[in-house]
Amino acid sequence: MKKHEIVIIGGGTGGITVASQLLRKDSKLDIAIIDPADKHIYQPAWTLVGAGTYDLEKTIRSEASVMPEGVTWIKEFASDIQPDENKVVLKSGDEIAYGYLVVAPGIQMDMDGIPGLKEAMGKGGVCSNYVDPEYTWKVLQEFKGGNALFTQPATPIKCGGAPQKIMYLAADHFKKIGVADKTNIIYATPGSVIFGVKDFAKTLMKVVNRHGIVLKYFHKLERIDPDEKKAYYRLTATDDSQCISVNDDNGHIGEEIVGDAMMAIKYDMLHLAPPQSAPDFIKECKLAHQEGPNKGWMNIDINTLQSPDYANVFGLGDAAALPTAKTGAAIRKQAPVVVENLLHVMKNEGQLNPGYDGYSSCPLVTGYGKMVLAEFGYGNKRMSDPLISKFVDTTKEQWSMWMLKKYGLPFMYWDLMLKGKA
Ligand SMILES: Cc1cc2nc3c(=O)[nH]c(=O)nc-3n(C[C@H](O)[C@H](O)[C@H](O)COP(=O)(O)OP(=O)(O)OC[C@H]3O[C@@H](n4cnc5c(N)ncnc54)[C@H](O)[C@@H]3O)c2cc1C
Repeated sequence: MKKHEIVIIGGGTGGITVASQLLRKDSKLDIAIIDPADKHIYQPAWTLVGAGTYDLEKTIRSEASVMPEGVTWIKEFASDIQPDENKVVLKSGDEIAYGYLVVAPGIQMDMDGIPGLKEAMGKGGVCSNYVDPEYTWKVLQEFKGGNALFTQPATPIKCGGAPQKIMYLAADHFKKIGVADKTNIIYATPGSVIFGVKDFAKTLMKVVNRHGIVLKYFHKLERIDPDEKKAYYRLTATDDSQCISVNDDNGHIGEEIVGDAMMAIKYDMLHLAPPQSAPDFIKECKLAHQEGPNKGWMNIDINTLQSPDYANVFGLGDAAALPTAKTGAAIRKQAPVVVENLLHVMKNEGQLNPGYDGYSSCPLVTGYGKMVLAEFGYGNKRMSDPLISKFVDTTKEQWSMWMLKKYGLPFMYWDLMLKGKA
């Protein structure tokens, strides 16, 4: 069995960033990354691809090109982790032993999680920036009016803001192509607010009202019928007073009651985020929470990012059970904590740094040329980048933040973060 001092599962945002940072600290470290992917994708720009304002090709590079020099790339799927034996089992049946392990395999799209979704996706106006943003753009371009339904599942998802960012861009686009007057834009969410942090929710409600978007809270998507072009929702509010519906004048969107606490909304286009969960091999291994609301997600201390049961194992990114938004921005703050603490454990240097405070950020694009930069930490506590907040009020829609999203952040990702410099 081959052995590496440090094995990283996943060569995405988290895995590559951690490997690069480790090598910058000590270029002699023996690091292997397990990842079967040919391509590495800058996913945050898929929102812009879906709105026709960014080229898909610019979001994709070869995995080989982002692999840090000096790392051994094992181009395979991990299929099991056996932490008691310090080894990872590969799909091929081979085993890789490790001294220390970093787990960062991202999140899994569960296309079977909603009946009808798999059949509906990618045709008949059913699109997702999480799956194929170029099809989203095609749908927006060809839209002739009617119900434009935007929605999201009740599971955790990566970049929780993405399902509404594309809606605001679509609203702008519908105005531009002259179909806004004959369009109902609907946002149906299982949540009870437009955004969890008040300062940003206030601004987003202004955007919602500017476009006359119909907001439907406590709507849990249960089924899609692509033949009837209807999305079926269970209403989850425990009492009627919670059933607030914003900008819905006398039910003009034509929703129907179809059973006890069930509603059907007809759509002419539908954008959604598929249900998501931790990759199956994580769910099934000992490193995952075995019970409770985090069941199946990687179990790590929310501040040190170390496994509570295995001192030589750390985790970060979308697969981890951290009570904050799953974003690349969060990983930017998680990676240095993983690196510092991993080196600490390797050198037997006592106390770990409980330095990760849940920081995450969501660049909420609210239209072409407009963005609100929402930054927050554990408990939805608002946070601000000290440099940016010196110059701009990030709770307001800003052209400068749009420029940051379209040009600044991709540069920061490819040239700084993946190289371990930011
Ligand atoms: C539409 C959209 C918009 C987004 N917008 C933003 C945004 O504006 N800002 C932001 O910060 N974030 C955004 N994100 C989220 C961000 O891209 C993710 O949170 C981030 O990439 C997660 O990093 P990760 O390392 O956990 O997973 P990933 O980057 O997804 O990498 C996971 C890696 O693990 C590999 N892998 C999977 N299974 C296995 C296995 N069994 N064995 C080995 N390797 C495996 C995969 O091939 C992949 O390379 C967005 C995402 C989407 C889809």
